[in-house]
This record gives sequence, C-alpha cells and structure tokens, in this order.
Amino acid sequence: MLSMYPLTYSEKRTLYEKQFGRCPGCLEKFELYRMQVDHIIPKSRFGSDLSFNLQLLCMSCNLLKGDGNMMELWRKLAEQKRQEETYRLPRWYNLF
Ligand SMILES: [Zn+2]
Repeated sequence: MLSMYPLTYSEKRTLYEKQFGRCPGCLEKFELYRMQVDHIIPKSRFGSDLSFNLQLLCMSCNLLKGDGNMMELWRKLAEQKRQEETYRLPRWYNLF
C-alpha cells in the first residue's frame, strides 16, 4: 500500500541501502526513484508508521501487495509466475 507517511529523501535512501537496492517482493534491483514506500504490516491492519515497519517495494509489487502482507504478496507473485509459465508451455503439454 502506498504510504502517505512523508519520508524524507535521506530516509528513503537509508531504506534503499539497507535493502541493497532490491525489492523484497520480486528480489529484482531497481533505481531508488522507481520504488515506493510500503508498510510491511499494512496500516489497515494496525501496522506502524515507524521505520521498522517500512520498506521499499517496486511499483508492481506495491500494487500487487495492496492491503496484504508479505506472505500474501509472495503467494500472488508465485501464482503470477506459475500462470506465465503455463502460458509459455506448448499446447500439447496439457495432454500429459
Ligand atoms: Zn518487486
């Protein structure tokens, strides 16, 4: 979920360095400007605004995570990957 918590650039930078520039959802590397602040435990589930509950996600993971937690995001990512792989398999694969 996109945070309304006004994080300064240097706070965002600190989070970014802590994560080695990697999105904790898809584990890809992104430029800082392409990442968004996320509440690890969503605010709708009484997650805190303090830094231990904040992380940076890439835009697509942040969108996918929505109001969910990380377990739900990883499950959604795995499901998405599985669907992409199924789609890539040749048609005859379903016969086996
Ligand atoms: Zn991601």
